[in-house]
Amino acid sequence: MKKTAKTLALLAATAVLFAACSTKAEPIRKTDFVLGTVCTISIYDSKDKAEQAIEQSFRALKKLEQKLSANIPTSLISKINTQAHNTQIEMDTETTFIMQKALEYAEKSQGAFDPAIGALVKLWNIGTEEAKIPSKEEIQALLSSADYKNIKITDNRIKLINPDTRVDLGAIAKGYASDMVKNILTDNNVKKAIIDLGGNIYALGTRPTGEDWRIGIQDPRNNKGRYIAILKVSNKAVVTSGDYERFFIKNNRRYHHILDPSTGYPAESGIISVSIISPSGIDADALSTTAFVLGAKKGLDFIEKYHKDTEAIFITEDKKIITTKGLRGKLKLETEDYKLAE
Ligand code: AMP
Ligand code: MG
Repeated sequence: MKKTAKTLALLAATAVLFAACSTKAEPIRKTDFVLGTVCTISIYDSKDKAEQAIEQSFRALKKLEQKLSANIPTSLISKINTQAHNTQIEMDTETTFIMQKALEYAEKSQGAFDPAIGALVKLWNIGTEEAKIPSKEEIQALLSSADYKNIKITDNRIKLINPDTRVDLGAIAKGYASDMVKNILTDNNVKKAIIDLGGNIYALGTRPTGEDWRIGIQDPRNNKGRYIAILKVSNKAVVTSGDYERFFIKNNRRYHHILDPSTGYPAESGIISVSIISPSGIDADALSTTAFVLGAKKGLDFIEKYHKDTEAIFITEDKKIITTKGLRGKLKLETEDYKLAE
């Protein structure tokens, strides 16, 4: 599992373009494998301050992983998944916050985003060496378990009312983690940094030159490092959900890791990638998965209804690029393989 995840992490959908920095300033940087992906924190500040903030951040990331990973038997999520059917399980404040946020997205999207998807995610195992196409019967048997209405939260206690329901916070945890690291950095008075949690990016402040950070949006059907566009951002999270991050191909069909909870199969909403630009990492992450399942039209409506401070870039399977109003006329494409929708 780990080996595959490491290999696949190379396909990260969003990348920071450091090389184009015209300054000689070099960041203090550390990379480690946490939260099932390659995480890099780069800070432009004095060595001592940056190293202290980086160590503190990786300690917090590892602690979060021990709590939230569905693949670590001693995690709180594993405890919920094995025991919360019989009795209420108590959660700490942080897990309660993430779980409530996940349920809020589930309700607003009428289950397109669904943290109760865990049993189906395990059944498909996409992104691991055990990935396979389940039988229709296997999917049918677990479909009703993948419904957020099976999750009951009272204060900080959780209960799962369907015996097959398993929770999975994989679509939101890295976004939360990027906000957590951002807070650790700002508490340490760091003002210029890039937090990259497997392509879930938070760009803090500006580049050392004072210019905006440059974030490349990966071309979903081209080699790593070929971008459809380069975004200029400051104090923003940029998060992408795509069908090329974790997938396998069988009989000419692509099976990817973002499932449609209403069918139990990989979502087929006509898009192959969606990137979200938001001041909040947790919202950007939850929104990217929600918008991927909803597709371009419903996804745009959802963002424009609930998130006025947020921009999005959808890439459709017929190679069109659709954006929120705020980006219209502003996005310069780096490729001729795609066309901006009118
Ligand atoms: P992301 O890459 O942020 O879009 O999250 C995808 C991950 O979230 C998958 O690897 C699953 O663990 C989980 N997941 C898959 N489908 C859904 C869904 N419809 N709602 C919530 N989580 C999902
Ligand atoms: Mg997500």
